[in-house]
Amino acid sequence: MEFILASFNENKAREISRIAAPLRAVSLSSLGVKLDFDAVENGSTYEENAFKKAAAAAEHVSGIIAADDSGLEVEALGGAPGLISARYGGSGLTDEQRCLRLLEEMRDIPDHARAARFVCVVAVIFPDGSRRVFTGEQRGVITRELRGSLGFGYDPVLFIPELGRTVAELDSDTKNRVSHRAIAFSKFREFLLEKN
Ligand code: IMP
Repeated sequence: MEFILASFNENKAREISRIAAPLRAVSLSSLGVKLDFDAVENGSTYEENAFKKAAAAAEHVSGIIAADDSGLEVEALGGAPGLISARYGGSGLTDEQRCLRLLEEMRDIPDHARAARFVCVVAVIFPDGSRRVFTGEQRGVITRELRGSLGFGYDPVLFIPELGRTVAELDSDTKNRVSHRAIAFSKFREFLLEKN
């Protein structure tokens, strides 16, 4: 069974297809759709942003349409960078520069107060217009230096105590079992498989 992923990122579609197998995520680029998500990703919650993307896609394609929105939330920073995770520190920064910026901002935060989590919200619009939301989180603590070279974004600065590694030290199979995105899309898969 296929669903449309409201994203133009082929790598993301492949990763989500592995997570949600036997379901298959089909990206908007593979369907030849053209639209600008930057214009709609201006909501005040992950859920709002995800539904805006799914609804924008629904104007161009039909089927089961899923969109995700995610971010890193640091407790000591009141949940920042959160919704602006991709743009934290300015739009011109690399992932590594963003991580270093975060470590600098947290330099004086003691070890016991460095809790953080990745959050993922998956918004789904079904062909009959009904809507569903699935969420996932991955909890950890912010490191004091970059660790690991796998993954992307803030992976090198989120240490998962139960695994004894940062997310950037997890191979992709492991990350695809335990990540916030894996948890949210697995819930979506269970829901769809039960329904059909
Ligand atoms: P998106 O909504 O999935 O595009 O994620 C927004 C931003 O959150 C990304 O640009 C990253 O900075 C951060 N982020 C989301 N998921 C991850 C992850 O799995 N690892 C590291 N950073 C992530």
